[in-house]
Amino acid sequence: MSMEKLVAYMKQHGFVFQGSELYGGLANTWDFGPLGTALKNNLKNRWWQRFVQESRTNVGLDSSILMNPAIWKASGHVDGFSDPLIDCKACKSRFRADHLLEGHDDTLHADGMDIAAMETYIAEHKVPCPECGKHDFTSIRQFNLMFKTSQGVVDDQSQTIYLRPETAQGIFLNFKNVQRATRRKLPFGICQIGKVFRNEITPGNFIFRTREFEQMELEFFCKPGEEKTWFERFVNESERFLLDLGLSKDNLRLREHDADELSHYSNATTDIDYRYPWGFDELWGIASRTDFDLKAHQTHSNENLEYQDPVTNERYLPYVIEPSLGVERLFLAVLADAYREETLDDGETRINLALHPAIAPYQVAVFPLIKKHHREEALRLYDKISKHVATVYDETGAIGKRYRRQDAIGTPLAITVDHDSMDDNTYTVRDRDTMEQVRLHEDDLIDYICEKTAF
Ligand code: ATP
Repeated sequence: MSMEKLVAYMKQHGFVFQGSELYGGLANTWDFGPLGTALKNNLKNRWWQRFVQESRTNVGLDSSILMNPAIWKASGHVDGFSDPLIDCKACKSRFRADHLLEGHDDTLHADGMDIAAMETYIAEHKVPCPECGKHDFTSIRQFNLMFKTSQGVVDDQSQTIYLRPETAQGIFLNFKNVQRATRRKLPFGICQIGKVFRNEITPGNFIFRTREFEQMELEFFCKPGEEKTWFERFVNESERFLLDLGLSKDNLRLREHDADELSHYSNATTDIDYRYPWGFDELWGIASRTDFDLKAHQTHSNENLEYQDPVTNERYLPYVIEPSLGVERLFLAVLADAYREETLDDGETRINLALHPAIAPYQVAVFPLIKKHHREEALRLYDKISKHVATVYDETGAIGKRYRRQDAIGTPLAITVDHDSMDDNTYTVRDRDTMEQVRLHEDDLIDYICEKTAF
């Protein structure tokens, strides 16, 4: 399916609107509407459930977006969190140099290439500008992606602080606090969901690459030497999480980083890529980060961040595995995967958003067959069911039309109150995917709904 179609669909149904639309928009910003908010919350809750609630080792955290700027110096972000920027002198288009190379040769992974190597490649291969076709580029400059702002009433340089470009550093800073407060032994993990900001050179592809987005990050601390085992386990668990959400295996690809592509602090990294409408691209990065971050903060803060093994009394800095997932990239993957246009037996077409029932914006729709006669009973049912799952009430139009509307937004069950319901408290329950109907008594309804819409 084309991106244009998906974007139009999302706007029409209230998943995602253009940001600041009333004022002509603000480039690459997006607002999540009622359905988008519900889906996003369901994805975040599911991640939290899997990686915190159901985990025997992990706990949660909610750290600040604004942090002491010394942290970003220590972490390497002030000096090194930059992307290579290049301009076409002929048409003034701006590119990320690594993306320019990968666009020219899709077998290349230019992420780990240094600037000189990229410039040589561009010159030797006479790489053309994707916009105007000319080969006339500026040299490559490094562009720092952190958003600056200032704290306090005096707008001077000494007050400069940054909006965090990842949630991970907030976790590293609180490693000791969390370990002491929860009396955790290694291995254990700390999870965080939160907003981050990156002044991307070339945002785009709708919500795939934006300057404000949300991450779901896990920092898993383990004994040095055990990191390979945990790394492999998290690659598998992350993939399993996506498959359990209903993403098709064919649309997922595990991509191990080659030695020359690895960040200097990482001894293994695997990306889980999703087949977006434009092709495979990164959804989830899983990195084995050694003790790079804790060591950096220990050095810069002069605080001992070592862990003491309670049995052997050995002291060491833990190694870290980091699975890092963007909420919006998951949102886009889930919607693209679930969207289908189907032709029915009677020749009619419908959109079926075949989301996993548990993450659909609504689990149940309630309809009165005839507004005048069945409205009160349907609303009574709505009040009852909405205490258990997200429910929507719809009384307008023919029943067939109402079914189609719910199919198009992924509501797995539709319940209709009709004439017989008024006498015997039974209702027709229709399934989104099979379109089959069953008749259920009110006493069995909640159990049925909960069973059909659980993970
Ligand atoms: P890319 O190579 O696409 O720029 P990255 O490797 O820099 O991404 P990480 O720093 O590893 O990304 O961030 C972890 C996750 O955060 C990514 O896997 C992705 O899901 C998400 N993410 C990163 N940048 C963006 C962005 N600009 N917009 C939306 N999500 C993002």
